[in-house]
Amino acid sequence: MKKHQFEVVVVGAGGAGLMAGLYASQSASTAVISKLYPARSHTGAAQGGIGAALGNLEEDHPAWHTYDTVKGSDYLGDQDAIEFMCEEAPSIVYELEHMGLPFNRTKEGKIAQRPFGGHTNNETGKPVMRACYAADRTGHMILQTLYQQSIKNNVTFYDEFQVMDLIMTEEGVAGVVALEIATGELHVFHAKSVIFATGGWGRVWEITSNAFAYTGDGVAITLRRGIPAQDMEFFQFHPTGIYKMGILITEGVRGEGGILLNGKGERFMEKEGNAPSVKELASRDVVSRAMYLELKEGNGVNGENYLYLDVTPETVNKYAALDGRTNPDGSPFSVTGEEILGKLPDIIDFCETYLGVNPVTQPMPVQPTAHYAMGGIPTDKFGQVIVDKKRKPLPGLFAVGENACVSVHGANRLGTNSLLDLVVFGKHSGMKAAEYAKEADYIPLPDNPTEFVEQQLETLRNAEGEERISDIGTEMKEVMFEHVGVFRVEDGMAQAVEKIRELKARFKNIKLDDQGKKFNMDLLNAWELSNLLDIAEVTAVSALKRKESRGAHARDDYQERNDKKWMKHTLAWLEDGEVKLDYKDVIFTKFEPKKRVY
Ligand SMILES: Cc1cc2nc3c(=O)[nH]c(=O)nc-3n(C[C@H](O)[C@H](O)[C@H](O)COP(=O)(O)OP(=O)(O)OC[C@H]3O[C@@H](n4cnc5c(N)ncnc54)[C@H](O)[C@@H]3O)c2cc1C
Repeated sequence: MKKHQFEVVVVGAGGAGLMAGLYASQSASTAVISKLYPARSHTGAAQGGIGAALGNLEEDHPAWHTYDTVKGSDYLGDQDAIEFMCEEAPSIVYELEHMGLPFNRTKEGKIAQRPFGGHTNNETGKPVMRACYAADRTGHMILQTLYQQSIKNNVTFYDEFQVMDLIMTEEGVAGVVALEIATGELHVFHAKSVIFATGGWGRVWEITSNAFAYTGDGVAITLRRGIPAQDMEFFQFHPTGIYKMGILITEGVRGEGGILLNGKGERFMEKEGNAPSVKELASRDVVSRAMYLELKEGNGVNGENYLYLDVTPETVNKYAALDGRTNPDGSPFSVTGEEILGKLPDIIDFCETYLGVNPVTQPMPVQPTAHYAMGGIPTDKFGQVIVDKKRKPLPGLFAVGENACVSVHGANRLGTNSLLDLVVFGKHSGMKAAEYAKEADYIPLPDNPTEFVEQQLETLRNAEGEERISDIGTEMKEVMFEHVGVFRVEDGMAQAVEKIRELKARFKNIKLDDQGKKFNMDLLNAWELSNLLDIAEVTAVSALKRKESRGAHARDDYQERNDKKWMKHTLAWLEDGEVKLDYKDVIFTKFEPKKRVY
């Protein structure tokens, strides 16, 4: 076992982890540990943009961004944190620009912006151009920029090290244990502050836009150490995944004028009950549900389980004229094939590669895809982890990015607000973690800090059963997609809980093929599956208990939002294999809950 000591240890090298590491390293010795090479983190897959009310093309204000985010969250977001994020947004986007991020530009050379779902001019209710973008590779550019800055600032990286435990003693947080993937050796990182930034867990579901590495390690590790997970029932389904594959087609396509059509060629988003005003640019929960209902009514294309997303200039221009859409200078909006190609190059590439479809001349077959975790490790707006309903902090422990729940996204995240969340809260958690480390002493390590990890690994290695992890994984994904997906009912969710428990029991009887130490991905995949199973169980139980529809949690048997009973955050603990629930107040500042209309 090897030992290292750093004042701040960051787990994860995506946008959140890199920004946190960058800021922590300005005043504390800092290590960033990542199971992937940093540039392979899922942030690199983010396409459409990062939200900030710069007002470069039309009037916009952080206060409008705040209101849209509160409304988008279906009023479950904590308003103090949302206000903070939206106020910080313009300066942080300029900071990224100054670090060298190559944003698209307006004719005057300012950062270009495009519309995205749920972002509006609060006076007219019309979509507003708030998403700052670098073609359809915004996340890739953020990741590259922050990685370059981190290298320049001498952040110490441990690439391809998988963190498997948080070291906690009676005195508090003392560091993490990681497995070096190349050798199988365990490393102890003794630290004063630990920041979890491990990303999401879309791999719980069958159809997902998420990377293979999205196995929720940070949440599973902290759950095992007695820390609750918040609002796990709220998992976002993005409306437009490539049919059957789930690969994401950015909302930026609809921002550029793309239209959703059913098998009869109807633009269903304008139907009463869907979103007659902003149509395709409603928030994601609203669009996904409308699509689900179209499919359920048999309105899929060719009788199949998909709909069309059409961004061909002919369709875009036809509907832009019908909607009376104009450019910022008041002239009628229209696009050419060349412009589509210039703004969405990767999307066109994906569709040609995976579907043999050219979106400039043909519509894309799409279906909702599991996309984003609104829930996660509970924190305050400085990334500090809080462990109960009274908001008691756990000194030295921080979480940021998709694995954290601040909560700025509440029951439903608006597009472009995750990249913003990463950099705003990444920055502040990095600063707070370093500040804490300056005042705190190292908490002594326990006698055998790797004991719990060794136990877990031994159990997996020595399992002598017959079950295959791939079968257990497939069954989990299917049941979660069917019963804890876009629409939910009591019976289905209860079945899912039961099934997950059965799979957890079967997981004890697995057999691994690889008994070696070096690059044992068989072993690590099994450990990751155990994380997904814990998360699936917590998600399904939290969902089953919430008897209302709010944001991404849409129930057929309780179709209305119920603010009287359910305007509260769920906290879930895993204790001795049982899920325990409690609830925490939502923070309100300015906005009283209203019915959402798009
Ligand atoms: C296809 C796609 C498109 C998207 N487009 C947009 C968009 O346009 N705008 C927007 O705002 N949001 C978008 N999102 C959402 C957003 O990109 C993500 O929520 C965000 O990038 C997550 O960043 P992160 O830093 O939290 O995690 P990640 O970038 O995933 O980084 C996680 C890091 O944790 C490390 N890690 C994980 N587990 C361990 C472990 N056990 N030990 C050590 N390291 C570990 C990984 O190696 C990785 O470095 C998109 C998401 C997807 C999937």
